[in-house]
Amino acid sequence: MSLSALVKTKLTSLLARKLAVRPARLAGHRPVASITFDDFPKNAWTLGGPVLARRGVRGTYYTAGGFCGRTENGAAFYDEDDLRQVAAAGHEIACHGFGHQPTPTLTTEELTQDAERNREFLRPFLGGDAPVSYAFPHGRVSPRTKRFYAPRFASVRGVHQAINAGRVDLAQLNTISLETRLWDKVRIETAIQRTLHENGWLILHTHDVSDSPSPYGSTPEMLDWALGRVAAARVPVMPVCDALPVALGL
Ligand SMILES: [Zn+2]
Repeated sequence: MSLSALVKTKLTSLLARKLAVRPARLAGHRPVASITFDDFPKNAWTLGGPVLARRGVRGTYYTAGGFCGRTENGAAFYDEDDLRQVAAAGHEIACHGFGHQPTPTLTTEELTQDAERNREFLRPFLGGDAPVSYAFPHGRVSPRTKRFYAPRFASVRGVHQAINAGRVDLAQLNTISLETRLWDKVRIETAIQRTLHENGWLILHTHDVSDSPSPYGSTPEMLDWALGRVAAARVPVMPVCDALPVALGL
């Protein structure tokens, strides 16, 4: 994508965030948290999975079918065997589009084809079901693409840095990054405390997990530290699909 197109989709995304496509009010009865991995790099499972297992929590893997079995810029992505293991361990396999394109750059027909392709790719790993949670690739959205995904998934996550509390948009849920490039222990701890006090929904996200992570990834220690702080606050961690009804008080 050209620089001007990137800037344009970023601006569109910022404006689109103001437009609540599926407004909802969280119940505020009790706090809940989710840990999510986008794309997803192979080591999000092979190194991230054991951290989650030690903490006794299940996560959400937002999966882009187009990355299956591929290595790009030296980074290996999950393969079908990983997906089977992720599912067998009880984690949620969620949708991140097939081609991982910024959605505002696709026509509605292309969005339909991409959504269908990823749904069919993921179905065998979901016992024949369709994925119920979606995250926007690159966090890029437009009012049109928010309206496209809102009725197709139980929840849709963006990349805006905040917890979810009070009035939220289920077509663009907020998240707190655990990525190296944005790593800030104070911000994460503050988000956990706000989640606790507002009975909100904290969704954490990262990509790769390794001792030498990309700017978009985390070390196992960073992941473990964040989950440890959530545990210390006694906020339960659940996959996005399970946290949603808790957050809504259903
Ligand atoms: Zn992504």
